Amino acid sequence: MDGQPRPPALLLRRSAQSETPRFLLLGGSGAYALPAGALGKLLSSRRVRTPYGLSNPVHRFEKDGFPFFFLSRHGERGYEITAPYVNYRANVYAAKLLGVTRIIAWTGPGAISRKYRPGDLVFPDDIIDFTRTRPSTFYEGKGIGFLRQHPVFCEPLREALLRAAGRGGRGNRVLGGGTYVCTEGPRLETAAEIRFFAKAGADLVGMTLCPEAFLARELEICYAPVAYVTNYAEGARRLPYRRGALFEGMLPASGAEAVEAAKNRIPAMAIAAARALAGGERDCPCAVSMERYRKRGVIGADFREWVAPPGGRGR
Ligand SMILES: [Zn+2]
Repeated sequence: MDGQPRPPALLLRRSAQSETPRFLLLGGSGAYALPAGALGKLLSSRRVRTPYGLSNPVHRFEKDGFPFFFLSRHGERGYEITAPYVNYRANVYAAKLLGVTRIIAWTGPGAISRKYRPGDLVFPDDIIDFTRTRPSTFYEGKGIGFLRQHPVFCEPLREALLRAAGRGGRGNRVLGGGTYVCTEGPRLETAAEIRFFAKAGADLVGMTLCPEAFLARELEICYAPVAYVTNYAEGARRLPYRRGALFEGMLPASGAEAVEAAKNRIPAMAIAAARALAGGERDCPCAVSMERYRKRGVIGADFREWVAPPGGRGR
């Protein structure tokens, strides 16, 4: 390299930082069918090898100079993986390995509570977990993972999302708060189950935020969801059965357009929220969720050591 001009060290550092995304937009239903250009410019795509298998493809994008990763939970070209079969551990592990510190995840739940209707954009603040068969922790057999879940989502990230939602676009209602109950699927819920969830305090019902939110916390990644309400939960409204239609009799015929519009608003809103927080130090419990174990010397700095299965498999 002798004789070659060298850029100043400061410039090098800045350039490297701007190229390393720290934010993952995790797309839910409809993520495979966004309007052209919604995510900006695609730079690269890869599936990440993890101790839990391959992640979904992780795409690196840049939108108006802001670099971020994007992952579509349910597939690349259509609805290929239903909620119980998503490899949540591989996806969240991949995010951590790539250096992600914040995840905004979207989900398309049904409305249980009368407060919500299809086409609404909701920023829930609590979860009831009714999933049954999904691996729900990285810390199998490890003696760690006793982590508080209140608030269950990253509050600064949720607040940034609410601010971004309030600024951009019109037409869809924006509502903060609400409890999301996560069911196993892929079947929809029975009417009796929905009545039960309503009594338990649930406002929205979906199949995807668990265990994703809990896994993110285990790896000290901030996580907040955006819910775009796609239908009424079973029995929440009396609607005529519509044979062969999406959410047969659970979504008024006039509602489909509002639902699609709500979903299409999410990328710009999420990118604006992530951008508003980018570069700042994280001052939230999620950033240090494992601190107690670190202080006691139970875990070290490298997260790969925290999650390694007993016996060293997958290291
Ligand atoms: Zn946080």
